[in-house]
Amino acid sequence: MKKVFIFLGPPGSGKGTQTARLSDKLSIPHIDTGSLLRKNIEDESELGKIAKGFIDKGQLVPLNVVSSVIKNRLLKDDCNNGFILDGFPRSIEQARELEKILDETGKFSLVKDAMAIYFDIDTEILVERLVNRRSCPKCGTIYNLISNPPKIMDYCDICDTKLQIRKDDNEETARLRFETYQKETAPLYDYFKDLGILHELDAHKPINEIWENLKNIIIK
Ligand code: AMP
Repeated sequence: MKKVFIFLGPPGSGKGTQTARLSDKLSIPHIDTGSLLRKNIEDESELGKIAKGFIDKGQLVPLNVVSSVIKNRLLKDDCNNGFILDGFPRSIEQARELEKILDETGKFSLVKDAMAIYFDIDTEILVERLVNRRSCPKCGTIYNLISNPPKIMDYCDICDTKLQIRKDDNEETARLRFETYQKETAPLYDYFKDLGILHELDAHKPINEIWENLKNIIIK
């Protein structure tokens, strides 16, 4: 079985929900560059200060910043048996960087050990999904007020913490994030296909059905 899973798809396509499930099932970490960058902003680190301006504008944070965040994370021992990448790579330049980082850390090879899973979805419905997204700052559970609401409005079902709205989940920034996705990230579809590591999921389906299809792809 492959050990490195790259989740590819536009913002709001459901990658985060499925990576959390897969991380639990395979007992491997879920590495999400967006959350790592937001943590750097919260901690007011030097990297966080640089990242903030780009995130607020829905643009990609420069390669050297993302690369350093990801490299530090992949060097940790909990990545030795594999990991799931959500939100990285986000451009062809970053995919080449990932290949370099994997070679440097000596843990895995992109072509032999990785699988890219593309969340195929009609982007028209995604702005509405993003503005209705809420997440738990404590346990990370993601909700959607329309398709997957919490039992008690605004509070996490699992740990009862007050849910948050991400600052960049407003309509204006969401639209900019889609533009960035189309320009920078969408070309990765062909890039991974040419490497022979691309698999596709129909992300319009209900969460549990996507999960069953994902398990079938991974176990094959
Ligand atoms: P996400 O949580 O994946 O939606 O990411 C939120 C924001 O963080 C994005 O809009 C980017 O500004 C930034 N970001 C996350 N991952 C990356 C990445 N791999 N490269 C550059 N910027 C990123």
